[in-house]
Amino acid sequence: MGVKAERAVLLRQLKDYLVFLKDQGMDHVPLLEALETTFRASTVAAVKASAPPASVLASSVPVLQTPTADNTMIQPDAMSRLTEVRNELGECTRCKLAETRTNIVFGSGNPNAKLLFIGEGPGADEDAQGLPFVGRAGKKLTEIIEKGMKLDREKDTYICNIVKCRPPGNRDPEIEEISACKPFLVEQVRAIRPKVIVALGKPAASTLLGRSVAITKERGTWHEFDGIKLMLTFHPAYLLRFYTLENRRAVMEDMQKVLEVLNS
Ligand code: SF4
Repeated sequence: MGVKAERAVLLRQLKDYLVFLKDQGMDHVPLLEALETTFRASTVAAVKASAPPASVLASSVPVLQTPTADNTMIQPDAMSRLTEVRNELGECTRCKLAETRTNIVFGSGNPNAKLLFIGEGPGADEDAQGLPFVGRAGKKLTEIIEKGMKLDREKDTYICNIVKCRPPGNRDPEIEEISACKPFLVEQVRAIRPKVIVALGKPAASTLLGRSVAITKERGTWHEFDGIKLMLTFHPAYLLRFYTLENRRAVMEDMQKVLEVLNS
């Protein structure tokens, strides 16, 4: 690989890592020592060679503050384990979705959240921004969380998908793609250890339960994933498509059940 290509890969890795950190609630850039645990030593050596002195960085970079909803600091375990999982994922090419994606959409929110939403896969907006649920369906999810549940999306929840790359044309992810990506989802869940998981829509519910789920029949019912309580409900995109009072009521009933467990 030529120098230009290597530099492009390095910049891409750096950008992904910075987006990931911002996404996890960090509002600073870690110093080079921290980067050293993340990137290969040779890569860091190249960064060090062209980086300004640490004193310059220290004066220009804000200090890390990652408060949670109750103003406690984010537990390092969940954050650092999520960082490890993201690093293990790397510039993933484990399935063919790598060929058409723009960005890997790992997840966003509070790594210590008690509530974890799991959707199906990134759409066009998510693929472009590298963040989950930022398009129309994302706005609907935010409305459910903030207006319906009276929670703060960034502080009280973590949100991710069963596949981290956009299926072309917003088709459902295929079995092979889900199988390739699922180990990372499982590790995300284990890092966060929420009190409740909400599966948004049939593909997420079916993936977590390991069987085909009829979401219209099974929404609103409790299950378990990896020892964690799991609620099934409609995907916000389904609500947008079938915006009936009945469907909106159904989702809010499901979220009320979730709130009861969260507050118990
Ligand atoms: S969907 Fe998952 S397994 Fe497939 S390329 Fe993206 S990150 Fe890798």
